[in-house]
Amino acid sequence: MTDESWGQVRDELRKAVGKNNFTSWIEPLKLVRLADGTASFEVPTKFMRDWVSRNFAEQIRLYLEKAGEHVERVELHVATTKGAPKARPAPQWTRPAQAAASANDDLPGAPLDSRFTFDSFVVGKPNELAHAAARRVAEGGRVDFNPLFLYGGVGLGKTHLMHAIAHELQTRQPHLRVLYLSAEQFMYRFVQALREKEIMGFKEMFRSVDVLMVDDVQFIAGKDSTQEEFFHTFNALVDQNKQIVISADRAPGEIKDLEERIKSRLQCGLVVDLHPTDYELRLGILQQKAEYYRGKYSDLKLANGVLEFLAHRITTNVRVLEGALTRLFAFASLVGREITLELAQDCLADVLRASDRKVTIEEIQRKVAEHYNIRLSDMIGPKRVRTIARPRQVAMYLAKTLTTRSLPDIGRRFGGRDHTTIMHGIRKVEELKATDGQLAEDIDLLRRLLEG
Ligand code: ADP
Ligand code: MG
Repeated sequence: MTDESWGQVRDELRKAVGKNNFTSWIEPLKLVRLADGTASFEVPTKFMRDWVSRNFAEQIRLYLEKAGEHVERVELHVATTKGAPKARPAPQWTRPAQAAASANDDLPGAPLDSRFTFDSFVVGKPNELAHAAARRVAEGGRVDFNPLFLYGGVGLGKTHLMHAIAHELQTRQPHLRVLYLSAEQFMYRFVQALREKEIMGFKEMFRSVDVLMVDDVQFIAGKDSTQEEFFHTFNALVDQNKQIVISADRAPGEIKDLEERIKSRLQCGLVVDLHPTDYELRLGILQQKAEYYRGKYSDLKLANGVLEFLAHRITTNVRVLEGALTRLFAFASLVGREITLELAQDCLADVLRASDRKVTIEEIQRKVAEHYNIRLSDMIGPKRVRTIARPRQVAMYLAKTLTTRSLPDIGRRFGGRDHTTIMHGIRKVEELKATDGQLAEDIDLLRRLLEG
């Protein structure tokens, strides 16, 4: 296969998997051989090899076949270049555990929450990749991707994962200087350094770390000189091959008032999103928490079905979910009663009501129209051109998946359309979602906006 035709296959793949996935996973692949039904690729790291082979190998195979190649297998090999030399030699002795933190003593990091460890992080489909990437960084070995950019809605575990990385690094690689802080604290330190004419010290300090983690980076959007300083710090560390981990509440490209050059820098590494929790993940988290509370309130009984009920009803975010359980146990212990469904309903009435706030079809239509830049009236109107019909179908799909409305009911709200038309629209979107990465991303984003 020629470079050119591989280039065309890559273009197809870019459309299929979406831009972020493409940059992270497909672009770095080097096609080294295609013969006897086997396509061999070189990948830079073991982590990438595993992820690509699990998630993209089949798609790559399909698109190669579509381009007229005969491919039965896709093989991935880790490129055998020597790892970059470490800037700081590993210490010749093992420091006693107590002295471990001393590598970071002079750093103005935020305190770490001792509960936020990998052990206490429940892994499910929605956070699987974020977790795997965080684990990878926590090994403190070669820098595979820089930065690791974690994003997702409130309470989905970004801070938890960052703290877990810091904890893990402190035990595994106590000589590394690990700095974790929020973007707000970064700004605060910077302003303070300016005021006290300590800017050199500030720069030196930030450039002396091995791992820098900045939480909630969206905070510095629109804050010009802080952004500028952040940009320089970021570049200096990347140049020294030091690991950076960033979190934000949305993808780099979607952060308003963030300088373009910063956006593009942030996209250079691995961009991973934490998806909204699903039922299984919520139940897993509740079970883990309940286990902890059973130890704490050993005389309390927990009736069957309570955790399932909560996982089903509280879908907003993990923080709310945890808070609900904490309150439930505290309340039950106070009144000395078994935790039953009724008790839960009583004690958590307000939380349950709040998460009952359902998305309406009107909201969906409005957001989708905004997103695709079409008129709201076209959502219900008769126009059938693709540029309008497609967004309309997306809205139908979201109406079906985010609300409990029936098809005829949805039909009525889309200008009195028949329920079979709605069904057709939904099917169409489901079909397209599987092959059109951009559409899948759009839907993901809209869903987040609507549920957020
Ligand atoms: P974010 O920074 O994304 O807003 P946090 O990391 O602060 O969210 O998480 C909010 C709360 O939910 C924390 O108490 C955290 O421990 C918990 N949490 C989130 N995701 C998980 C998970 N997968 N397993 C266990 N706890 C979780
Ligand atoms: Mg956070």
